Amino acid sequence: MKEIRNYKLLINGHWVNSTSNESISRVSPATSQIIANYASGTNEDVNLAVIAARNTFDHGLWPRMSGTERSRILRKLAQRMKDEINYLAEIEAEEVGKPIRLARGDINGSIGLVEYAASLAEQLHGESYNNIGQKYLGMVVREPVGVVALITPWNFPALIFCQKMAFALAAGCTVVVKPSEFTSGTTLEISRMAEEAGVPKGVINVVTGYGTTVGQPLIDHPLLDKISFTGSTATGKKVMEAAAKNVKRVSLELGGKSANIVFADADLEDAIDGALFGVYFNQGECCCATTRLLLEERIADQFINELIKRVKQLKVGHPLKEGVDIGTMIHKDHMNKVLSDIETGKNEGARLLCGGNRILGSEYENGCFIEPAIFDQVTPEMHIFQEEIFGPVLSITRFTTTDEAIAIANKTRYGLANAVWTKNIDKAMKVSRELKSGTVWVNTVIDGPPQLPFGGYKASGFGREMGKVGLEEFTETKSIVIHLEKRIPFYTTVE
Ligand code: NAD
Repeated sequence: MKEIRNYKLLINGHWVNSTSNESISRVSPATSQIIANYASGTNEDVNLAVIAARNTFDHGLWPRMSGTERSRILRKLAQRMKDEINYLAEIEAEEVGKPIRLARGDINGSIGLVEYAASLAEQLHGESYNNIGQKYLGMVVREPVGVVALITPWNFPALIFCQKMAFALAAGCTVVVKPSEFTSGTTLEISRMAEEAGVPKGVINVVTGYGTTVGQPLIDHPLLDKISFTGSTATGKKVMEAAAKNVKRVSLELGGKSANIVFADADLEDAIDGALFGVYFNQGECCCATTRLLLEERIADQFINELIKRVKQLKVGHPLKEGVDIGTMIHKDHMNKVLSDIETGKNEGARLLCGGNRILGSEYENGCFIEPAIFDQVTPEMHIFQEEIFGPVLSITRFTTTDEAIAIANKTRYGLANAVWTKNIDKAMKVSRELKSGTVWVNTVIDGPPQLPFGGYKASGFGREMGKVGLEEFTETKSIVIHLEKRIPFYTTVE
């Protein structure tokens, strides 16, 4: 049996026990055996962590260093992550239940984010206006926003942590991180590596624990300047309420229900692969998973037949086994929720074409494995069309015209991402312009480098991560108006 990983909290550069002295055991979603224990943080721990981040921001070196110095340290962090890439990938696969091949990709992607943020740290600059009259000079400067709470979900713990932390640090902020209670391992390990790379104490503080006992006191804390949250729309609303109390800045990366529109003139081989990857990647536990496949009627039957053949070849199995395509659901309650959504789909009249059952027996017996499912004849009023299932479940809806495809795709309260497959550039651009989402993929899916911002329209949230704007999200803008030479008096003195 592998060793169980035991973690403490990171507050002001020290690894400490929680004041509760209690821990949260994470069981493997594949075997139900304990794989890690995280400290169960409290209100008091949160307070200590926020005070440490506040003092470090107000009096410490980090926000006052040059961008080049911060960049150098972030690059060292990226190198430390490269040194331990296999270790980090194993933790990610084990805790999330995702296939090891994907976990390696996630850690590589996380390293890429840290490297990109390091490059931005050197480039962050404002503007100057030398054209506003002889007697004026205007400057627009960027300052770090201050102390930021970073709250992350369980599905991409390392990637989302790096997507926030590296950009916040590049801008000169200090942070208090609250990772998911199911998958805190890589956040703690990467924070250790950050210290080893030279990030000063108090810049990154990590308080593990539950949403109610750590998350809520954190978002309520008056000494924070900003909350950067990724998670469900339901929790996102609580974050906004808490932020309203003392007008904290807030950015929200929330749920999604992405459409994948396939036109008859697409490269169908590519589109089939994209349809599979878009929904079964990370077991469907992905905010931007393209769970709603919209097929042009005249190719639908042929496309679906091929899709079913291909889905049956996907290997569901233990996350740490090489060659596995689909791992396990995050935990039993979530697995039961996904199975219940599948039942709802059947009851509301959608046609289940394949999969949708829990897999039991032999290596699957104690895990949370579900066969990848495909529903046909899904209509926009159905629950499975509208709600995030967050599992390996694809819904198919057919269309005949481009306008109909756009209208169906937009019939959701979410607006995170959508995809379109066609070889016709006019059609690709018309659809891209009319889709209401923060990202549109054309002839690809769940794709994109750190240069491109990511975030939502509508109930998928607001604010953007990655790209230059991902750095600016962690800054305040200050205008400095300089008057030169003697002023013409506004009030004239009467003798
Ligand atoms: P969640 O909302 O349940 O939890 C997210 C985080 O918030 C966790 O760390 C949790 O402990 C914490 N939390 C819970 N209650 C809280 C409270 N009252 N105050 C403060 N923090 C609290 O989400 P989840 O189940 O971990 O993740 C799945 C959800 O995340 C899905 O809806 C998915 O679409 C979304 N997601 C969005 C993106 C994106 O970029 N838009 C990326 C990944 C996941």
